[in-house]
Amino acid sequence: KVLVGTKVDENHANFTTAYNMLTGIRVSVSRTNAKLDRPLTDADFETKQKSTFDITGNELVPSAKYDFKFKDYAPWVFRHLRALFRLDPADYLMSLTGKYILSELGSPGKSGSFFYFSRDYKYIIKTIHHGEHKFLRKILKDYYNHVTDNPNTLLSQFYGLHRVKTPYGRKIHFVVMNNLFPPHRDIHTTFDLKGSSVGRDYKEEDLAKNPRATLKDLNWLRRKRHLELGLEKKHLFVQQLERDVRLMQKLGIMDYSLLIGIHDLRKGNEENLREKTLQVFNPGGDTTGDEPSQVLMRTPSKLESARKAKELRQMIKSERPVPVGETFNKMPDILEQTHTRGLFYSDDGGIRATHEDNQPAEEIYYLGVIDCLTHYGIVKKFEHFWKGLSNDRTQISARPPHEYGERFLSFMNGITMSPEEAERDARDREAA
Ligand code: ATP
Ligand code: CA
Ligand code: CA
Repeated sequence: KVLVGTKVDENHANFTTAYNMLTGIRVSVSRTNAKLDRPLTDADFETKQKSTFDITGNELVPSAKYDFKFKDYAPWVFRHLRALFRLDPADYLMSLTGKYILSELGSPGKSGSFFYFSRDYKYIIKTIHHGEHKFLRKILKDYYNHVTDNPNTLLSQFYGLHRVKTPYGRKIHFVVMNNLFPPHRDIHTTFDLKGSSVGRDYKEEDLAKNPRATLKDLNWLRRKRHLELGLEKKHLFVQQLERDVRLMQKLGIMDYSLLIGIHDLRKGNEENLREKTLQVFNPGGDTTGDEPSQVLMRTPSKLESARKAKELRQMIKSERPVPVGETFNKMPDILEQTHTRGLFYSDDGGIRATHEDNQPAEEIYYLGVIDCLTHYGIVKKFEHFWKGLSNDRTQISARPPHEYGERFLSFMNGITMSPEEAERDARDREAA
């Protein structure tokens, strides 16, 4: 199966869905952000806000190209989360809906989720299963408290949880989240690590035809890779990861992974930045042959972006419904820094590799914990049982959340060690 990221324009099969998603986001986010800010209440975590769109519209909901229903979940909570993650409301709307075009990295992996990138590559829309949706709502308060208390959290940043439904159509649940990878730098190597070995190998011989595939645990080990963070950052990384994992263990989450994108400063960017072809990957999760795909990005002028952003800001202020279906010609500058919150996103959107002597190394890591909405439910129990029949039970990836977290942490702790350190560590453990 060859899977390529495609621009979702009017001719694309999923254009209507994408249009409805973006229209819903645009209207509901600007509506929530138009109000005076206030502290959250318990009820905010339960709120569902329904809007019905049609071609005529009314004073609350502007007219749209298609008939559909949109549900915005916990809009105030996500407004606060976006503020916490330092997103500017107008920029957020601009990035997602400035142009009604996304690129779809669409093909379902094992999970069947679809991925869309905003045109400026800052945001990812991921369709999720009803179970994941219900689960996120259930844990929203824990998540909110955790990210509030942990400014350096490595967990996926959720910016919105929504649902669209067309007449006679399916209900499509989706989240908006951060793209860990930057718009302005090539990612030369990508790893998706879980700390498990079963099924965690990308066939090295396939790399020739697919040089930027997402590699896995065994590829990392085979290459004798080492996450070089220097002493301080390494300590903070391990500590933060542990806090994040403790939360997931408590909430019964598993199957998450640490996604690492490596930009090699010696290689730099292959393309001219002003008219750049971005290399992106079919996500397809753990199952499919991640094919690289190309999405063409154009960089608009700063002035144009600023003007559009101002317009949106004014719309938000005036509480007047944002016109729907209007397309903005220009996008915000993709070179503009995403000031994502936290230590691990502070060096050009990532974290600079650092030698043990604290000298900077020639790489930037873009990393975070992704796919963290899988609750250890009945499905996983079955998977555990079946896989357990044929594999070493300690190595299968579907294990109860506590063990999953422990194995994950010990693997991630291991990869931050230099070979010498790892040897020392092994000796110490043997001695103990
Ligand atoms: P599965 O459940 O089969 O693992 P999934 O559909 O749940 O798949 P994820 O594991 O969330 O998908 O993501 C699959 C791939 O998509 C990742 O390995 C990564 O390449 C890319 N991806 C996912 N989330 C992000 C993100 N926030 N930033 C950048 N890339 C991402
Ligand atoms: Ca995954
Ligand atoms: Ca998944």
